Amino acid sequence: MNRDHLLRRHPRLFAGKALPRIDLVDDHGWLPILDRLFFALEAEFDDEALRDIEIVAAYSRNAELVIEERAQVRRMRNLCRLAEQDSARMCERCGADRAYLRRHSQLRTLCEHCAVQVVSR
Ligand SMILES: [Zn+2]
Repeated sequence: MNRDHLLRRHPRLFAGKALPRIDLVDDHGWLPILDRLFFALEAEFDDEALRDIEIVAAYSRNAELVIEERAQVRRMRNLCRLAEQDSARMCERCGADRAYLRRHSQLRTLCEHCAVQVVSR
């Protein structure tokens, strides 16, 4: 899955809005977290409620996923925070479970396999 594919999967959420800036460099491991979040929002809220939320951006900061949103409803904000927490144990490079915080040239959340790949690159 890449960014464009992800955004195309959620036409209800993004109807009539600016598309979010998704800045996850070359790593696609966290896109499934966003995909699950977007499905959860679309499942939980009707079109009128969805109009009140805007996903502004998603990016990695200090090896954690940050989701910037504008939401009037507390439940929507909570779903975004829960999605961010998922990134603590998911490899930002490949999406594998059992990932940990690792300090290479920069702080990253990586699985065993990707940690070796990144070091040897
Ligand atoms: Zn990995």
